[in-house]
Order: sequence, then structure tokens, then C-alpha cells
Amino acid sequence: MFKKGTKLYSIFTGTCPKCHEESMYTNKNPYILSEALSMNEKCSNCGTKYKIEPSFFYGAMYVSYAVGIAFAVAAFVISFLVFNAGRNIIFISIIGTLVVFMPIIMRLSRNIWINFFMSYDKSLTKKK
Ligand SMILES: [Zn+2]
Repeated sequence: MFKKGTKLYSIFTGTCPKCHEESMYTNKNPYILSEALSMNEKCSNCGTKYKIEPSFFYGAMYVSYAVGIAFAVAAFVISFLVFNAGRNIIFISIIGTLVVFMPIIMRLSRNIWINFFMSYDKSLTKKK
């Protein structure tokens, strides 16, 4: 979908922001809720430490606010413009969307957050 080497690739796949080779998360499926936010400490390919400083990922909360609004707007547009839903249905669909996509929203915000601070480094890709 997105080319390796772009920030979007790392953001949407949850891979290491520097080498794009490894998932940052211990479990790739965000819907295993107990492991939704459990991350590897380091990239096993390039050795990048994901937690730059203690509580680094608290900053991701600001990002998750924006990401949440993006999902809410999408839910609004779909239910209002596509399904022509009434006010109550729109409200429910927004809340439902936020709840259902919460694990994805949380991971996306972490991925976006860490990609503010780290960039892709071609020299770190896996040697074959
Ligand atoms: Zn890496």
C-alpha cells in the first residue's frame, strides 16, 4: 500500500521507524487488548530504542486526540452523507467508531508520534 522508506509505511504498519523491517509491537494484532500497547524495547534488526526517554509515549496522547477526531469526522461523513442518518444515529455511530477503532487509534498515534522523532535510514535495512 505504502512504499517502504516513507513515514506512512512505518505509521500504517507499525514497523520500526528507522529500518522499517520489524514490528514495534510484540503482537501484530491490536485487538488482543492485553497486548495492544506492549512494545518491544528495541528493534531486533537495527537496535533502535523505541522509548527515547521515560514516558516518551505520553506525547502520543496529543496525537491520539487528532486521530480520534479524524475517525469521528469519517464516521460522521459516512453516516450523514452515505446513509442519510438522523442525529441520534450519527451520534451512536461516532461513539461506536471510536470504541471499535480504539486499539488502532492508539497504535496509529504512537506510530505517528515516534515518526516525528525518527526517520528512515536506508543503511539500516536488513542485509540479505
Ligand atoms: Zn529497526
